[in-house]
Amino acid sequence: MHATLELLEKTDFPSLKRAGVETLQINLGYRCNQQCLHCHVNAGPRRKEAMSHDTVMAVLDYLRQSEIKTLDITGGAPEMNPHFRELVTAARAMGIHVMDRCNLTILEEPDQADLAGFLASQGVEIIASLPCYLEENVDRQRGKGVFSASIRALKKLNALGYAGEDGALRLNLVYNPQGPVLPPPQDSLEQAYKKHLGETYGIVFNQLFTITNMPIQRFGSMLISKGQFEEYMGLLRTAFQPRNLDSVMCRHLISVDWQGYVYDCDFNQLLGLPMRYNAQPHTHISQLAGRSLAGLPVTIRDHCYGCTAGQGSSCGGALK
Ligand code: SF4
Ligand code: SF4
Repeated sequence: MHATLELLEKTDFPSLKRAGVETLQINLGYRCNQQCLHCHVNAGPRRKEAMSHDTVMAVLDYLRQSEIKTLDITGGAPEMNPHFRELVTAARAMGIHVMDRCNLTILEEPDQADLAGFLASQGVEIIASLPCYLEENVDRQRGKGVFSASIRALKKLNALGYAGEDGALRLNLVYNPQGPVLPPPQDSLEQAYKKHLGETYGIVFNQLFTITNMPIQRFGSMLISKGQFEEYMGLLRTAFQPRNLDSVMCRHLISVDWQGYVYDCDFNQLLGLPMRYNAQPHTHISQLAGRSLAGLPVTIRDHCYGCTAGQGSSCGGALK
């Protein structure tokens, strides 16, 4: 069992039921051109786990028979999966909005020279992590040279029309706090990012998503080792806002791992807590084609307080 899962088992978090599923989030595997110290899935160039072609086909079959509006693709660096472009092209042909969680440096890899053009041609929305707008802080967290590579990649995306005035190609950035604190208000931090990146580098982007750190995986272990776990959980509980319960991700999203198994959200995926469906220990995406999940109970634990604290938090930033 994960070290933090034991601490999260007993919870008084309110029970949640699913509404319809609007977003399918899939993890294409753990290969990545980077190897960040803080990476939740320990991704890196030598990882072998990758969604197979059969599983990609099962995902497309599910999409065809569902009312999914958005496909949200993560990894590792999802673009390194050999089936990434086939998946994107097929989903776009179905009229589904596609989001790529892109680490930006992948756009500079020699064998991905045409990636930015491909994403633009397909109208893919890009979500890119940029934990700070200052070089020193980003390089400390993500590795030396990552900030300047990210700036070059953002300029390339802008040149292709990303974050342009016509609104056709969306480019969003992601921020999460460095320590055991809640993120600052999303709107004011977005303004600070826009000012600094615009004035210093001439870069434009659409939105900044601020995301609360979950007390799981590496961040959870760090809290435990520093004796701050209970204090951070106390902060999340104290900041609980019931109004956020209606819009937490698991109400309208399912998360699929690289093998095709289904979870209520990617945090539950990271914790190995499967979605509860027909009393099965695990449910594969191939079993869900054409099935409604509305009304299904969500698997909750104490980490769920991370989604409801303060302005709320999701893969799309603060909850509105
Ligand atoms: S870029 Fe993202 S997926 Fe890749 S190692 Fe860093 S945190 Fe992990
Ligand atoms: S952690 Fe997952 S299951 Fe819990 S509230 Fe957030 S989205 Fe829902």
